[in-house]
Amino acid sequence: MILNRYERGRSFLGRLPHEGDLLKSIEGFCQENGITLGVFTALGAVKSARLAYYDQESREYRGFAVDEPMEMVSCRGNISLRDGQPIVHAHLALSDGEGRTISGHLMPGTPIFACEIFIQELLGEPLVRRQDEETGLPLWWRG
Ligand code: ZN
Repeated sequence: MILNRYERGRSFLGRLPHEGDLLKSIEGFCQENGITLGVFTALGAVKSARLAYYDQESREYRGFAVDEPMEMVSCRGNISLRDGQPIVHAHLALSDGEGRTISGHLMPGTPIFACEIFIQELLGEPLVRRQDEETGLPLWWRG
């Protein structure tokens, strides 16, 4: 187990750009503002989405597309370092015009219609993503 205690750093509340890529917009903001560790929540709407499911047997992400405008019910994620750069890990829950939900691991290629986001920077010992042999996933290790 790796579970560290952190102090709160800066807090950011605002909106992301219309037609920006959801994942890359968050990552870009973190890179520009030197946020190397943190958590965020967001809501709004997307024009379409690219999500993925991690197949624990094959150890591969299986991507799938949602090719219609959807409500962004919840997007939650975190920011940490991989190869020295802040990267975002996020999961996204979407709903359609009849309230049906689809969700998964957020991939690049999800254009924002509107997005309101809260980002909380955390200060303390870095968490760094490195390949984990047990799961095949890039998990957190102490920096
Ligand atoms: Zn994930």
